[in-house]
Amino acid sequence: MQINCKILIIIAMKIFLLLLICTASLIGEIIPRDIQKSPFLNDERYKEVVIIGGGPAGLTAALYSARSGLSTLVIEGEEPRGQIALSSNVENFPGFPKGIAGFDLGSNIREQAIKFGAIPLLDKVVTADLSERPFRLKLKGGKEIYAETLIIATGARTKWLGIPSEAALMGKGVNSCAICDGFLFRKKEVIVVGGGDTALEDALYLTNFATKVTVIHRRDSLRASEVLQKRAFANPKIHFIYDTVVEEILDINKGSVEGVLLKNITTNETYLYSCDGVFIAIGHVPNTELFTQSLELDSAGYIIAQPYSTKTSVPGVFAAGDVADPKYKQAIIAAGFGSMAAIDAFHFIKENQNKENL
Ligand SMILES: Cc1cc2nc3c(=O)[nH]c(=O)nc-3n(C[C@H](O)[C@H](O)[C@H](O)COP(=O)(O)OP(=O)(O)OC[C@H]3O[C@@H](n4cnc5c(N)ncnc54)[C@H](O)[C@@H]3O)c2cc1C
Repeated sequence: MQINCKILIIIAMKIFLLLLICTASLIGEIIPRDIQKSPFLNDERYKEVVIIGGGPAGLTAALYSARSGLSTLVIEGEEPRGQIALSSNVENFPGFPKGIAGFDLGSNIREQAIKFGAIPLLDKVVTADLSERPFRLKLKGGKEIYAETLIIATGARTKWLGIPSEAALMGKGVNSCAICDGFLFRKKEVIVVGGGDTALEDALYLTNFATKVTVIHRRDSLRASEVLQKRAFANPKIHFIYDTVVEEILDINKGSVEGVLLKNITTNETYLYSCDGVFIAIGHVPNTELFTQSLELDSAGYIIAQPYSTKTSVPGVFAAGDVADPKYKQAIIAAGFGSMAAIDAFHFIKENQNKENL
């Protein structure tokens, strides 16, 4: 009886050992060797895909990444839902024939990403060490995050005049994007503030709708390229006022743009100038301060991605949206880049797993 018991125990131990070996080899198939060895595997701070930025690009990347089964964290920064949240009615994002408030558009993409398992985090990245994988991020709130792959979607902030009436009338006649909002100024008179390429491109575009477009520039000559200047000067709808700044936008009390208070900086003369809309076109600043030493940037500070890809100069780091887009700056394009970045990150992870398992 005692002997039978011993034999049974030995058989049970052998079966247990066999099961243990099978499970271990199965894990070996699924998890790449570097991650098996990695002290980060069971660390909740470690994610396969970490996205910096909670605008259309970052949230769409989160949606695609989580839906492809990768552990995904999206760090939203100080502007959750991104710049599109500043638009009271987005009329050019496909799928919303009646338009949609920018905040709601961001919330919808966010909700869709969370549904598939993406984890949102309201915090700001303050340092990013891209020297080795997993990449290490430090957050303002004190947390440290480890990222197998990183998607940078930090956007490009619009330069504003910084006067109170500008903020009060934003979306009520004050705009920063002619392609987004020019359509709303059919048969109206508008001003464009700025003297560079963006200002003249915006002015030319706005002549498709407005009856009169006045470019207000603080210097005595334009900074825009010769070609654009020629085209703008030749357009009878475009007028120019030089050496002049916008002191105030009127009328906050009415909740709409009725005109601007202009000041000639050479004579100090101030006067009212009537208009129905104000387009601020003094430029953008890409949010790439964290990456000036680690990533290849262009002369204006935008991240350089490989053509028709989101790959940056560091393998495993991808860029999406306005932060890598000096030209288009549209929500749909940012979202498209976000999906591309998540697909690129997915392939990067799978290719590395395959290499490690060879
Ligand atoms: C007033 C206005 C109206 C617009 N209207 C339209 C429109 O009608 N249609 C249209 O297509 N486009 C419109 N645009 C443009 C559109 O908003 C942008 O093209 C789009 O939001 C870019 O998306 P993004 O995700 O690349 O960047 P952003 O939307 O700029 O998002 C950047 C994100 O990065 C985060 N972030 C930045 N730094 C950090 C950090 N260090 N750590 C963590 N997070 C960080 C921010 O908090 C933010 O969530 C408008 C823009 C403005 C300003």
